[in-house]
Amino acid sequence: MYEIHTAIAPLPFRPEAIDWLFRWGMRVTVRDTRSASGGGYWWPDRKLVELFTTQEEAAIHEVAHAWWHSRRLEGVNAAKMIVATVRLSEETDRRFERAAQVAGYYVYGIPGQKDDASPTGWWMGQLVGQGNDWECYAGLASAVMGRIEQLPDYVRPFYAELLDEPAA
Ligand SMILES: [Zn+2]
Repeated sequence: MYEIHTAIAPLPFRPEAIDWLFRWGMRVTVRDTRSASGGGYWWPDRKLVELFTTQEEAAIHEVAHAWWHSRRLEGVNAAKMIVATVRLSEETDRRFERAAQVAGYYVYGIPGQKDDASPTGWWMGQLVGQGNDWECYAGLASAVMGRIEQLPDYVRPFYAELLDEPAA
């Protein structure tokens, strides 16, 4: 567990990972410390995690973006993340239900969800739409709220250095 900002509850990150991010230059700001409604940005050029509120889901998501930012370019990591997301979308083990559901949205989109920027008029997901491994990585981290035990063994390696050990 690690407290990335005084206004945010400790999150299930490995201290070594967050220490590395801060040494690398990551900064974390919170616009409104009295709200928990969510939202935020990762600004790569400024190495800034800008959180609108103290919501933990948003904090996990944006910090995961920061962590994946340089790691996705090591070897074929970016492509491997997409392959793992596709496999996860077909996962039937109920232990990984939430992660599989979100992976399914990323791969197949949500036909009922209006998206004016999409050529079909509905949100086409992160793979055939405008997204990629970048959003798959951060999105799955926040989908399971940083609980690595809710990811199957073929997805865990991507998060092994960032997230805490599985809960006993
Ligand atoms: Zn994101």
